[in-house]
Amino acid sequence: MATAHKDGTIDKEALRRRYAAERDKRLRTDGAAQYKRLESEFTDLAVDPYTPREERDPVSDHVTFAFIGGGFAGLVVGARLKEAGITDYRIVEKGGDFGGTWYWNRYPGAQCDTASMIYMPLLEETGHMPSEKYAHAPEIRDHCSAIGRQYGLYDNALFHTQVTDLAWDETRRLWIVRTDRGDEFTAKYVGMGTGPLHVAKLPGLPGIELFEGKSFHTSRWDYGYTGGTPEGEPMTGLADKRVAVIGTGATAVQVVPNVARDAKELLVFQRTPSSVDERNNRPLTRDWFDEVAEPGWQKKWQENFVANLGIGFPAEDLVDDGWTDLGKRIRAQVIDMPPEQRTPEGIMAAFEDADNQKMSEIRARAEDIVGGEAGKKLQAWYRQLCKRPCFHDEYLQAFTRENTQLVDTDGQGVERITAKGVVANGQEYEVDCIVYASGFEVGTDFTERAGYDVTGRGGRLLSDYWAGGMRSFHGLHVHGFPNLFFVQQNQAAAFIANYPHNLVDHAETVAAVVAHAEAQGHASVEPSAEAEQQWLDFLLTGPAARLGSTECTPGYYNNEGQGYGEQERFALGHPAGALGFFNHIDQWRRSGAFEGLEFA
Ligand code: NDP
Repeated sequence: MATAHKDGTIDKEALRRRYAAERDKRLRTDGAAQYKRLESEFTDLAVDPYTPREERDPVSDHVTFAFIGGGFAGLVVGARLKEAGITDYRIVEKGGDFGGTWYWNRYPGAQCDTASMIYMPLLEETGHMPSEKYAHAPEIRDHCSAIGRQYGLYDNALFHTQVTDLAWDETRRLWIVRTDRGDEFTAKYVGMGTGPLHVAKLPGLPGIELFEGKSFHTSRWDYGYTGGTPEGEPMTGLADKRVAVIGTGATAVQVVPNVARDAKELLVFQRTPSSVDERNNRPLTRDWFDEVAEPGWQKKWQENFVANLGIGFPAEDLVDDGWTDLGKRIRAQVIDMPPEQRTPEGIMAAFEDADNQKMSEIRARAEDIVGGEAGKKLQAWYRQLCKRPCFHDEYLQAFTRENTQLVDTDGQGVERITAKGVVANGQEYEVDCIVYASGFEVGTDFTERAGYDVTGRGGRLLSDYWAGGMRSFHGLHVHGFPNLFFVQQNQAAAFIANYPHNLVDHAETVAAVVAHAEAQGHASVEPSAEAEQQWLDFLLTGPAARLGSTECTPGYYNNEGQGYGEQERFALGHPAGALGFFNHIDQWRRSGAFEGLEFA
């Protein structure tokens, strides 16, 4: 299907038709039900391969602040609370150490996709200089441990521990936390930072359990089998192996070049190609860092990045990468428009033009680098933000290797697994090892993903309170659930390409609110019902969530093409965008009035 006019310019209508046809081909009636949870349905594949689980006695004490989740959220909230003088802070974490996503994801080649300078939290506080513009996972994990050590967060932490129940005791005005290790302790305040993408999933393929070779999910990489290390030592165990990687999302894009390098043979099973733009990673130098790292630099860079993602007109682009490029292109289109065309529809049209241009370049890149039939099959036919944009300088190149084969399934995916291998396009491919790069659960109920429900005042369950959609004040506080903080993105700045920015910002609010409550001798704090409703009404005045259009190719952004239903319309951000939220909350915090919260 030609998508360009004879003069080489993009035929917008033809491109829309091509995008729609590619999407339709991939729609399935089972939607998100096509997946199975690793932890509940494949328990032997879900075991933590990185840290042995240590036996310990249950705890039954009291802490001022308990935080559920030991990823960036728990670490930055802990750091800010320690700075605010809260000394007994306990992190409860299901992994064997801090790091969250960076604890589990040790697959070869894992690295951040957002520039380290803004992605790695607390760089100023720790004095850490990232070694590369896009740091690799071991450095990020070490950074998590360093934060834990610097702020004394290891002292009270409970690892390999999952919360099973969280209930508010109105008489004593504290939370009772129960875990799968038999713990039952109390906390005056609780924070939840369980992460947006932490429940690993496998495709629900018939025969997974029949496979007689080795198989694992990317978040449980088995270096005992593959050899090598997360630091990049060659995986000598794969030298005589035929390996299948199932999936071509952001994880697979980082995995594939490494397996291609070390395995005897690699087969990559593709259902939907990712858009893979250039990465341009580079080492950061001490001279550069010393020049940049003036007091307050990281916040300034984070805010500049967010400003560049929107359609405002920031004076400079400090990070200057593939994420900010799209914003720049839209701005360029808007600048070129006559003022009378700068209507919301005009801006959406400019957005589409910028996107079409960008995606054409990305498709050309695949064809240029890989060439031939595979180069065509690796082209992504959808708008860039329909799926997670990817960036890599070695992924496409891997398909030019003799030992690496793309098995494109024309949008249909792998059919089944047999004792010997993988069946796709009606053909069985025998392999020694299957790597499932099949992602993480998204879009299920918050409490379902967290793994426990929360019982607030008067026995009200969070799952009931949110049955019609999330309700909160600033995304952080929920009426009827006192002294509880939800450190996540919705109803605040929403998803941004620099997720840790959401977390460090909420951490400042948590610390400010708790410090105020403690200084004033209050037992509890929660938003009033009116403040919560007003915040929700205000959010609904803005545009509907940008991600998740059902016109997009299926994926977790749009609930596998089916959309997210009525209650998900509350998965919103500030009407003025992420920067609008950060500015609002900054003023709200600074005022010291904590308007909307009730202290008692
Ligand atoms: P994704 O959900 O993005 O990708 C899963 C992949 O598995 C898709 O390519 C999917 O195809 C494929 N798949 C599923 N079922 C089948 C099947 N039956 N046959 C063939 N293929 C199948 O998961 P990822 O782990 O790649 O990424 C998840 C998220 O984690 C990212 O979007 C990103 O937000 C984050 N991430 C961040 C990184 C970073 O910042 N450095 C690195 C990696 C991940 P299809 O597309 O057709 O559904």
